[in-house]
Amino acid sequence: MAQVTLSGIRKVYPNGFQALTTTSFDIPDGEFTVLVGPSGCGKSTLLRMVAGLEDITEGELRIGDRVVNDVDPADRDIAMVFQNYALYPHMTVRKNIAYGLKNRGTSAEDIAKKVAQASDMLGLDDYLDRKPSQLSGGQRQRVAMGRAIVRDPALFLFDEPLSNLDAKLRNQMRIEIKALQRRLGVTSIYVTHDQVEAMTMADRIIVMNGGKVEQIGTPAEVYHAPASTFVASFMGAPPMNLVPAHAVAGMVRFAKTSLAVETHTDGPVTMGIRPEDLIPDTSGPLPFDVQIIEELGAHRLLHGVVGDEKLTVHVGKDTDVGTGPVPLSVKPGAISLFHHETGTRL
Ligand code: ATP
Repeated sequence: MAQVTLSGIRKVYPNGFQALTTTSFDIPDGEFTVLVGPSGCGKSTLLRMVAGLEDITEGELRIGDRVVNDVDPADRDIAMVFQNYALYPHMTVRKNIAYGLKNRGTSAEDIAKKVAQASDMLGLDDYLDRKPSQLSGGQRQRVAMGRAIVRDPALFLFDEPLSNLDAKLRNQMRIEIKALQRRLGVTSIYVTHDQVEAMTMADRIIVMNGGKVEQIGTPAEVYHAPASTFVASFMGAPPMNLVPAHAVAGMVRFAKTSLAVETHTDGPVTMGIRPEDLIPDTSGPLPFDVQIIEELGAHRLLHGVVGDEKLTVHVGKDTDVGTGPVPLSVKPGAISLFHHETGTRL
C-alpha cells in the first residue's frame, strides 16, 4: 500500500514566507497524480516535503500506513526523478542505474538482473557502457528513470523531469513515462508547470495557485468544470473565454443576448465558454466579429470581439469563415459561471 495522505500540511519557510496554506488530500495507491501550477505556486515545496527534503511546518504526512514527517528521505521508500537528471558524469550508464542498489548492499547478481530488466524496458541496452556525456537528453532522462525503477520504490516523485528536453522529445517521453507508470503500477506524483503534460499524463490533477490547492480532479473535470476562473484560464490552450455577464434565474445575459444556463444565481457573473464550444452558425445569437484568423493546420483559431469583449473560437480546418461578422451559437451545457469577484465556480 502506497497511498499518500496529507492531513493539514502547511509550509512556512524560515524567513516567514508561507509557501503552502493548510492542505489536505489523499493520493490513492497506484495513481498518477500531477501537481500543476504557475512558477512559485508551491508545487516543488509540496513535492520536496513528501520526499523529505523540506521540513513540514504543520500537519501529518503518511506514505502507506506510516507517518513519515520525521523519517529520513532514504528511509521513505521513494525514488525521485529530477529535471537535471542528477547523473554521475564519471560513471557509465550501467553504474548510474545500479548506484542506489549498491549502496543498499544488494548482491551483484541481483543488481545485474535489475539493471538488465530496467535497461530493456527503457531501450538502453546499447548504451550501458557509455558515460552520460555521450547520451542525448532523452537518453539521459531514461537513465534517470532506470535508476528510479531498479529501486522498486513504493512511490515515484517527478520534479519537472521533461523541462530540459525539446518539444518533440518531451511529447515522446511523456507517453513513455505514462506507459511505464501504468505497467509498474507505482503511485506517482509528478510536478510540472505545463498544463498539457498535466492533462495528458494524469489520472488526477491538483491545480495549485499562490500556495493553495485550487482544484483536485480528473483531467476532464478540471477542463470541463473548472472550480475557479484561475483554473479555467490556466488549463487549456487557448484558455477558456471569460467575459462579464448578468445572470437571471435560468438565463445569462451577455452582449444583449440571453443564453440558457442551469443556474439559480441572480446578478453579475463571469461567464466562461471554451473556444471549441462556440460554433459559427448563421442563426446563432452572438454577433461575433472575426479580426484575426490563426491557421494551425488541423484547426484554426478565430480571434475577435462580441461587443467590447474579446473571444477566441476554435474551428476545424474545413470551416469556411473569413474575417468580419460570423454569428455564433454555444454548445448546450457548455457555459460555466463564476462569481464575478472571487472567481469561484457558481
Ligand atoms: P517553480 O515552477 O518556479 O519551481 P514552484 O511552484 O515549484 O515554482 P516553489 O519552489 O515551491 O514553487 O516555491 C514556492 C514559493 O516559496 C515561491 O514564492 C518561492 O520563492 C518560495 N520559496 C521557495 N524556497 C524558499 C526558501 N527556502 N525560503 C523562502 N521562500 C522560499
